[in-house]
Amino acid sequence: MSATTRQPLPVRNPRTGEIDLHIMPASDAEIAATCERLRKAQSAWGRAPIEHRIGVMKHWAERLRAHRAALVEADSIDTGYGQISQVAPDMVIGAITRLCSYAPAVFQQLRRSGKSPPMPHIHFDTNLRPYPLLGVIGPWNAPLMLSTLHAIPALFAGCAVIVKPSEVAPRFVRPMMQTISEVPELRDVLTFVLGDAETGQSIIQHVDLINFTGSVPNGRKVAEACAKRFIPAMLELGGKDPVVITQNADLERAATAVLRGAVTSTGQVCFSIERVYVHESVHDRFVERLVKEADRVELNYPDVTRGQIGPFISARQAQIVDDHIDDALAKGARVRTGGKSFNLGGGLYMRPTVLVDVNHDMKVMRDETFGPVMPVMKFRTEEEAIQLANDTYYGLSAAVIAGSDAEARRIADRIDAGVVSVQDTFLTFAGFGVAEWESFKFSGMGGRGAGMLGFMRKQAVLINTGEPESMIEEPLKATA
Ligand code: NAD
Repeated sequence: MSATTRQPLPVRNPRTGEIDLHIMPASDAEIAATCERLRKAQSAWGRAPIEHRIGVMKHWAERLRAHRAALVEADSIDTGYGQISQVAPDMVIGAITRLCSYAPAVFQQLRRSGKSPPMPHIHFDTNLRPYPLLGVIGPWNAPLMLSTLHAIPALFAGCAVIVKPSEVAPRFVRPMMQTISEVPELRDVLTFVLGDAETGQSIIQHVDLINFTGSVPNGRKVAEACAKRFIPAMLELGGKDPVVITQNADLERAATAVLRGAVTSTGQVCFSIERVYVHESVHDRFVERLVKEADRVELNYPDVTRGQIGPFISARQAQIVDDHIDDALAKGARVRTGGKSFNLGGGLYMRPTVLVDVNHDMKVMRDETFGPVMPVMKFRTEEEAIQLANDTYYGLSAAVIAGSDAEARRIADRIDAGVVSVQDTFLTFAGFGVAEWESFKFSGMGGRGAGMLGFMRKQAVLINTGEPESMIEEPLKATA
């Protein structure tokens, strides 16, 4: 389909199952014009001192606060989340506020200058040059947070940013654009556009750097398109996070941590716990506790403000999770609690589901499930636990809960993943903006922890404070 004949895209409400919105995808011509406008404004934005950008970003945080209720409401309709949507704007505001306080120090640390040791009359200095225009392509699972997570450090770095959130969860864009329109200097360098994969591909043609958060197959298509233009792609992709629970682990602690790590946001989190490996001697006791904990979770139906988990955001995702459960049962797994999705008022819900007697031939242990499913498998030795945890083509994050911190750390250091939570699960949130990491294997390229630096190119300036060497008067000298 050509960009000029694009049709409105239907949007399904996750709580009612109804198509209650259509969005008009931005055309190629609109994307091109928007990118040109942003690029022009970026020149002054990127050259301004960081203090100027901090002032503008503080103003934006204030407008986000003013429109908090509208943002919460839109995010909640997009996702069917209750409690999580309540805090989503606060996480965005928090990310801005934190960078306001430490961005100047980050710039300072990254700048290096001095003299060349072999040629002391040559002085060097470093410029940090932002990529002029960043394109952010976001997923549906945490639309407000994930469409701004990278845009914010990029703006502090001096980039202009065009964001295309997922067509599955686009309602928050209207109140978000309202906040941006109320900050004159920001609206020149930040915008959100609506659209789908085709819109994403169009953005790739007009920007200098892409930050993509989504699935592995689509990440590959994005990387290929970026490679054709020789622009870098930061890819934040899927996961199949394992947790290892050893013989002497505190099983109550482990059950609490596994449930939270696997079931928060109905399991629709890239760093959800998706595989549970437990020492054979404590397997049965752990499963008993986990089932007991899981049965205490309540759905946020019919009242979105109550309960801990909501419906699947996407009907397609419910089908994938059901298929993983069917596949596991057909290959010998047993359901200890929970089970496949069911319809409540048009929304597709699933209770926290514990599976036992699972193995690595099953989709639920190999492919990303992205639902509230906890498949539990026994291991005999530490070596076997590490081998099972690493037996995946994903490497986003992982967790270890052991009898001592030293034992947990020993195992954590051998797991191939970008982030490992120790004596808990799901600690990735605590690392944003502080810790640095890179996703392993198919889970991505370019680090979550890269912060502002990922959006800047380093430029060396070399200054000769002496005489230039003559190639005629003097023979060439080795400088090493
Ligand atoms: P998706 O790949 O279907 O879509 C993501 C975004 O990419 C959407 O905006 C979509 O319109 C766009 N898109 C799709 N195909 C494209 C193409 N060919 N070219 C350009 N743009 C394209 O992913 P999703 O289903 O929205 O999100 C769920 C996935 O995202 C899961 O795999 C999850 O693990 C992953 N995820 C990863 C992280 C992380 O930080 N690593 C965070 C959240 C979600």
